[in-house]
Amino acid sequence: MLPHLIVLGAPGSGKGTQALKLVDTLGYKHVSTGDLLRAEIKKGSELGQKVSSIIAKGDLVSDEIVLELLKNNCEVTKYSYIFDGFPRNTVQAAMLEDHLLKGTKKLAVYFKLDLDLLLQRIVNRRSCPSCGEIYNLQSKKPAKDDTCDKCGAQGLVHRKDDNEDVVKNRLEVFRENNEPLLAFYKNAGVLAELDASLAEKDVFESLKSLLK
Ligand code: AMP
Repeated sequence: MLPHLIVLGAPGSGKGTQALKLVDTLGYKHVSTGDLLRAEIKKGSELGQKVSSIIAKGDLVSDEIVLELLKNNCEVTKYSYIFDGFPRNTVQAAMLEDHLLKGTKKLAVYFKLDLDLLLQRIVNRRSCPSCGEIYNLQSKKPAKDDTCDKCGAQGLVHRKDDNEDVVKNRLEVFRENNEPLLAFYKNAGVLAELDASLAEKDVFESLKSLLK
C-alpha cells in the first residue's frame, strides 16, 4: 500500500491539482476538507448552514467539526489517501494522527511557494463542477471558454472565497499556522518539500520521486 500523503501548502499552491494527478495515475483517494465542507453548504445541511459564513470570511471552521467530517469520509485501512486541506494547524495534525493515521505509513509534503505570487493565482482560479479539474484564466485556460477540457462539463466555477479580500485573510491564517505545522511533521521525521513554483508537470515529477 502506498503511504498516506498529507499535502501542506498555502491556498493556491497547487496541492489540489497535483492530488488529482496522483488519483489518476497511482490510484490514490483524494479527500479535501474544503470540498467536503462546500458539499455540505450546497446540500443545505445543518452543518453546511453552520459553516457557510465562516468559510465566506476565510476563517477556519472548528477542528472537531472538520475531523468528524473527515472520519466519515475515509477508510484509511482500505485505501491510500491524499489529505488536502487537513490539517490546518497542529491541533488538527495531532487529531489526524490519533484518530486516523496512527501506525500507518505516511508522508507530509510541503508545497513551498512565495506567498506574494499567490493572490493572482487564486483570484483567477476556476474549477470544473463535474470532475474537479482546476484551471487558471491566466496560466491554464480551458481550450474552449467555460468548458472543461477533461470531461466537457460547462460552467466552470469561481469559488466565492477566491476573491481578493477573502484570499488575503486565508493567506494570513495560513501564515500563522504554517511554521508550527511544518515543525510537527519534521519532528515526526516524515516531512519533505518541493518547489511549487515550477511548471505543473515538473511539480508532478518531484512529487512522484518523493513517493519512490
Ligand atoms: P480549502 O478548499 O482547503 O481552501 O478550504 C476552504 C475553506 O474551508 C477554508 O478557508 C476554511 O474556512 C474551511 N476549511 C477547509 N479545511 C479546513 C480545516 N482543515 N479546518 C478548518 N477549516 C477548514
